[in-house]
Amino acid sequence: MTDYVIPAPPIVGVPVQGGGLFPVRRIFCVGRNYAAHVREMGGDPNRETPFFFTKPADALVAGGADMPYPTMTQDLHHEMEMVVAIGQGGRGIAESVALQHVFGYAAGLDMTRRDLQAEAKKHGRPWDMAKGFDHSAPIGDIVPAAIAGHPDQGLIELRVNGNVRQSSDLAKMIWSVPETIAYLSRLVVLAPGDLIFSGTPDGVAAVAKGDVLAGQIAGIGTVRTRIV
Ligand code: MN
Repeated sequence: MTDYVIPAPPIVGVPVQGGGLFPVRRIFCVGRNYAAHVREMGGDPNRETPFFFTKPADALVAGGADMPYPTMTQDLHHEMEMVVAIGQGGRGIAESVALQHVFGYAAGLDMTRRDLQAEAKKHGRPWDMAKGFDHSAPIGDIVPAAIAGHPDQGLIELRVNGNVRQSSDLAKMIWSVPETIAYLSRLVVLAPGDLIFSGTPDGVAAVAKGDVLAGQIAGIGTVRTRIV
């Protein structure tokens, strides 16, 4: 038994369709990966290389649980995203074999304190407190690639209180999943348990307490949470 001087933090697990839990190590998120979202945020989709930010594993909200409205913001935004679950790690992974490193996929929400992000951008500061706060990553069950395959097209949609807020197609990603894995694995050594939030399509907007967010991705599944 290891002699930790305080209780060791628990491993965060996301339910897997068909049974079991996927143990989460780190969460990487791709910024600006759908051209229409880049434009709505005032950017130029033609000149961006992939960039990444992170959230802590314990920011995940799994199993359809409620998400508390966070402190220190007046502008909480939804970003509906496909999540890639890494089952096999590696460094310098080639695009041609990148999908062999994927355990499965989930629907997720990259919840964002948009006002704090705008302030950080203005001053050239890090995004951590705009992106990586507590409960900032609601996620649905992970579906293994053995069942889902590796979807690279199909509907990605978010409804808030039943009304469509975001609706796009996975095929509109600027950086494909293999390209993203290849690029990210040159920046860090990927490990089993890592999640990659692959970016949001356009239509991001604010939510309020009481709103019910329900997202779906064709062939992968759903994510649901209520803001409380
Ligand atoms: Mn995002």
